[in-house]
Amino acid sequence: MRKHHSENHRTQHIGWLRAAVLGANDGIVSTASLILGVAAASSSQSAVLVAGVAGLVAGAMSMAAGEYVSVSSQSDTEQADIARERIELATDSVHELAELTAIYVHRGLDHNLAHQVAKQLTAHDALAAHTRDELGLTDTVSANPLQAAMASALAFIVGAGLPLLTAWLTPYSTLTPVVAATSLLFLVVLGALAAYTGGAGIGKGIARVVFWGALAMAITAGVGKWFGVAA
Ligand SMILES: [Zn+2]
Repeated sequence: MRKHHSENHRTQHIGWLRAAVLGANDGIVSTASLILGVAAASSSQSAVLVAGVAGLVAGAMSMAAGEYVSVSSQSDTEQADIARERIELATDSVHELAELTAIYVHRGLDHNLAHQVAKQLTAHDALAAHTRDELGLTDTVSANPLQAAMASALAFIVGAGLPLLTAWLTPYSTLTPVVAATSLLFLVVLGALAAYTGGAGIGKGIARVVFWGALAMAITAGVGKWFGVAA
């Protein structure tokens, strides 16, 4: 009986994971920075919360739109490549067979075996063989645009909701240090999670998101303070 293949390859989850982590990271950094910037410029908690809610909605919509457009145009390109391949297979099958053979030789098969494999796969499903082995397109790589857009928007909302909730629950006198500290903590957890699920070094993952997050918050608070004084 064939042994069950139990290796868990991370690439299977890469599509939605990458969108989710980017969305949450963006939500935390942009909303926390917005809150700190408005808090530095104004003296009312309601102004800070209104800015935070507006930032959450605007950010979620722009993430969804951006992800939808980028994934759709990627799938448009893939569909156009596949359509071109279909024409080439119909108009020049000899050349296409030689091309597929060369791909398998390049992967390490001797010429005779590569030619056999290419012939059999072409007979079985030529377009599938060329799409997979020549264009490098498989189901695991091509994301669904709407799914990716929803995942990004949802992740952004979850990310943005953290500093916003903190700002709502914290007395105004301590809002800036509390939102800054808790947002950095959220970024540490997110950085560790992303690095762990992606199989990368956790320390590096944390340092990367915390550095850029802290920088964004500091600069926005500085600009907010400056505008507060200038206004
Ligand atoms: Zn081809």
